[in-house]
Amino acid sequence: MNIDTILVKVASRCNINCTYCYVYNMGDDGWQDMPALMSSSTIQALSSSLTELASAQSRPFATVLHGGEPLMLGARRLEYLLGALRAVLPETHVICMQTNGMLLTPEVVEICAKFRVGVSISLDGPKAVNDRFRLGKHGESTHDRVVAGIKLLRDHPMSGVLYAGLLSVIDPFSDPAEVYEYFKGLSAPSVDFLYRDGNHSNLPFGKNAFESVEYGRWLSRLLDVYLADPLPPRIRFLDDIIKLCLGGRGIKEGLGDADYGIAIIETDGSVSKNDTLKSSFNGADRFVENWSVHHDRLSEIFASTEFAQYHALQRPTSKDCKNCKLEGVCGGGMPLHRWKVGSEFDNPSVYCNDQKELISNVIDRLKREGLQLDPRLR
Ligand code: SF4
Repeated sequence: MNIDTILVKVASRCNINCTYCYVYNMGDDGWQDMPALMSSSTIQALSSSLTELASAQSRPFATVLHGGEPLMLGARRLEYLLGALRAVLPETHVICMQTNGMLLTPEVVEICAKFRVGVSISLDGPKAVNDRFRLGKHGESTHDRVVAGIKLLRDHPMSGVLYAGLLSVIDPFSDPAEVYEYFKGLSAPSVDFLYRDGNHSNLPFGKNAFESVEYGRWLSRLLDVYLADPLPPRIRFLDDIIKLCLGGRGIKEGLGDADYGIAIIETDGSVSKNDTLKSSFNGADRFVENWSVHHDRLSEIFASTEFAQYHALQRPTSKDCKNCKLEGVCGGGMPLHRWKVGSEFDNPSVYCNDQKELISNVIDRLKREGLQLDPRLR
């Protein structure tokens, strides 16, 4: 199968302590067994493995540096890592980084510019919204340092390459119009909004019940503001829903029926499943096979039965989803949101009713504009 994203955990620790973090604060302790940082021998094994994968599949894949906090690598080791990756991945392969932005310095930004690495920053909104959950190790504010990091990217002559956008976890008690305007004020070229982690056995923050639609209302209000703006940033989640309603395709897992291939490389070089599964149960992101870039070929791992079974988890299996008119757009949501003790992943998303609320509003808007819907929605 083709892989779209290789997510590389270059650091297994973080310099801050977001209270909602699925890596450290949702019951999984796998990070404790991992080296804090990726070593130079693992970096070399990783670049050999990516060379092999790039020649084995026709489609380019994106390599995303992730953590923990990837900038805990420090400037020197980051430069070494990016040099090793760019030596084997030409610029047709996107290399980007997801960071909390706290450790961005002019030196780090120059290194990212040298290797053409796009940087996406995690920020949840204006100070009061962001600092509700995204806090330092002693409960201190993170907002001002993150914004200082964003300004380094935004004001750089290569900002078009460097400033990839913002990643924001939704707080359903915040004002979506205020969050949107705030992100526009930071000149964000794109914003990816995420649902909070959670599942049927552990309801997401702010959700009263499976039937409630707090997030669906929040996203519908965001949709109104977005569609009214003549010069909006890209909002991938809303764009994908609109495209899917019009018969197009989404680009990531969690919406539609696109075949999205993702694998994780840990700091010790082992290969694991999508790390967001960690919030379901301890060890949910681990394969039975002990695969590693040190002794296995990525193309053989991705062609294996166990990897195919993990990949198939993206498609919903519950009969509610199978009989749902919106399944082609909703896609049953992310697997982590379907988890329930007992029935495991065989459930609709815990955000099912939020998805229905939002998608219905998108459909109404498209109909009002006289646009042709995907035949499955008519
Ligand atoms: S809206 Fe609900 S039932 Fe329909 S596909 Fe999504 S999660 Fe499944």
